[in-house]
Amino acid sequence: MSATAVAEDLNLHRITRQQFDRAVPFADDLHGWRGIADWLFEPEHIMEVTLPVRMDDGFVHMFRGYRVLHSAIRGPGKGGVRFHPSAGIDEVKALATWMSWKCALVDVPFGGAKGGVACDTHRLSAREKERVTRRFTAALGDTIGPHTDIPAPDLYTDAQTMAWMYDTYSMMHPGEANLPVVTGKPVELGGLAARDGATARGAFYVTDHFLAIGGLAGVDSLDGRTVAIQGFGSAGRHAAGLFRDAGALVVAVSDSRGGIYDPAGLNVRAVGRFKDETGTVVGFPGSESLPQAGVLELECDILIPAAIENQITIRNASRVQARLVVEAANGPTTPAADDILAERGIKLLPDVLANAGGVVVSYFEWAQNIENQKWEEADVVEKLRTRMQRATEVVLTRRTALVEGLDGYREAWEEATKSSALVARPDLRTAAQVVAIQRCRTAALQRGVWP
Ligand code: GLU
Repeated sequence: MSATAVAEDLNLHRITRQQFDRAVPFADDLHGWRGIADWLFEPEHIMEVTLPVRMDDGFVHMFRGYRVLHSAIRGPGKGGVRFHPSAGIDEVKALATWMSWKCALVDVPFGGAKGGVACDTHRLSAREKERVTRRFTAALGDTIGPHTDIPAPDLYTDAQTMAWMYDTYSMMHPGEANLPVVTGKPVELGGLAARDGATARGAFYVTDHFLAIGGLAGVDSLDGRTVAIQGFGSAGRHAAGLFRDAGALVVAVSDSRGGIYDPAGLNVRAVGRFKDETGTVVGFPGSESLPQAGVLELECDILIPAAIENQITIRNASRVQARLVVEAANGPTTPAADDILAERGIKLLPDVLANAGGVVVSYFEWAQNIENQKWEEADVVEKLRTRMQRATEVVLTRRTALVEGLDGYREAWEEATKSSALVARPDLRTAAQVVAIQRCRTAALQRGVWP
């Protein structure tokens, strides 16, 4: 049977469970403690709300909103809010779960959470988007708060959205110090300028350091390396500039309308201006057009999926030609695709590591707001670099230890991967999740099971 004929489960919540089940055998003291594993995996709180919103034409449209607190074991919930047509309960649960692992891995004192409103922002006016945001914030009520659950931007939400969320929450909590209730706010409203490009900057530091410490045989720097980027939103666009400035050739970028290619390297700043003027990268003068899938399958050194989930799947993983995949998006690669890439010797820096820069800078913004201080940008960027480099080292070291110690875990590992014929060794995703899950486990056991 060919790989493409095999059905693959693309439900994101079940994907997070598959990834978790692969990590559990390696998380000492957890394997065999089935109850503790389930405690760490199951979301703590799930909220679904109906949002009646008056549209510009006078009609009332019902939107659905979601907020999931996956875990508050290590601290208050933290995670973005996305406005996207596919936002639904299983997607939000999965994204909240990844936030828990992400926060633990980069060691920020938060648990994981996520929110979403099912809507297409391309079809909303700015006033309608504001009303959706305010109604959603009001519906969340005291589910969110500076010490309970702290939202931030995600797909199709930004600093302006956070300003509306902050304002709405403040109206409901007058006289309180509310700035730390959301992060990713405008600079004039307690935000940090570095927050905007922080996800991309984190991905850049992780990649650069991974190469510098020998993560990819024969490649020790970005200089002259070819890079292809799927997605030209906040993460993809900033990543293009950062990798380009480090001497890499950004040979291809794409957005939801298609992709462009230039083997000599695109002028990424000019591509950004072109996108601002026309709404798409497609048609950038001097570039060749690529179909959307073409970016993922292009021959290059580094492929950066920076768009949405389930992009590298059982259908196309065998055609990926990069040597290294850097997940700037959340969940772009399925477990079956992980196996295919691993089998083909393609390394992958997983989302919970590679895109954690956003939440790291969110943490700095939150701490700055709690202290009522204004932090220097240069200090923030330097602290981000140090934290991302440290997390990269921890993951690489753990992966080496897991592979070397595999025999001790062989039986548990074979059990965890029995649905997959291909996977032979724990990859960097499993190593990252083992580190994160163990940190959550330690905190859970220190706190104890109450009552
Ligand atoms: N939405 C971002 C993420 O997926 C950032 C979350 C945050 O800053 O809290 O990591």
